Amino acid sequence: MENNFSYIYENLRIIRERVNEAYAKYRSPEDNVRIMAVTKTVAPEAVNYAVSLGIDLLGENRVQEYQSKKDFYDSSAEVHFIGSLQTNKVKYIIDSISMIHSVDSLKLGEIISRQSVSHGKVTDILCEVNIGGEDSKGGVSPSETGELIEQLAQLDGIRIRGLMTIPPPSDSDVFLGRMKELFDRISEDKKSVVSLDVLSMGMSHDYAEAVKYGSNIVRIGTALFGARNYNR
Ligand SMILES: *Cc1c(COP(=O)(O)O)cnc(C)c1O
Repeated sequence: MENNFSYIYENLRIIRERVNEAYAKYRSPEDNVRIMAVTKTVAPEAVNYAVSLGIDLLGENRVQEYQSKKDFYDSSAEVHFIGSLQTNKVKYIIDSISMIHSVDSLKLGEIISRQSVSHGKVTDILCEVNIGGEDSKGGVSPSETGELIEQLAQLDGIRIRGLMTIPPPSDSDVFLGRMKELFDRISEDKKSVVSLDVLSMGMSHDYAEAVKYGSNIVRIGTALFGARNYNR
């Protein structure tokens, strides 16, 4: 293929190397860690090139951008929604998204449930946790996470698979560790109602640390595709 995407090839090689290194050092052989390519502002041709290199999971942030790009994506990759999601937009993505990482309220869970049931499907969801307690970020507080999970577990058409977080950029090591503790505690406390097997954390600046602290999905944008150009 004629293209100028050799930087993506090289970036992915480095990412895989670092993920494998952390995995070999800190994780057990039965653990699952997936590399998600986060596609915001990235042209479908570049996304498809990453898929041709073996990326099988894409992360979408914005409903409108996703709608304009999805027909051009190589359909072999699975697509998850990771951005903040308005309840009135759930209907636009419900058919083509297999997991929603950003559920932080019962209200949003209820809408996803209703839409999933009416489309005859089950949607996997993660509960987004605001582990750093930052005002600028979405997510439920760590102390309310267990209760929200219990409530979401009652709803039809959704299956709670785990937790997601975007830790504060500084001290992410500390917060990734806290997130792992929270995940383990809630998995144990709520094991009679849900079976949690996905911890989604780690971005371009902290994915190797996230693998160390038990992440199952690292969500990588700029380290793979380069700096985002919002004018593109
Ligand atoms: C943009 C984004 C990422 C990827 O961020 P990078 O720092 O570019 O790797 C991961 N998760 C979410 C929720 C995002 O919005």
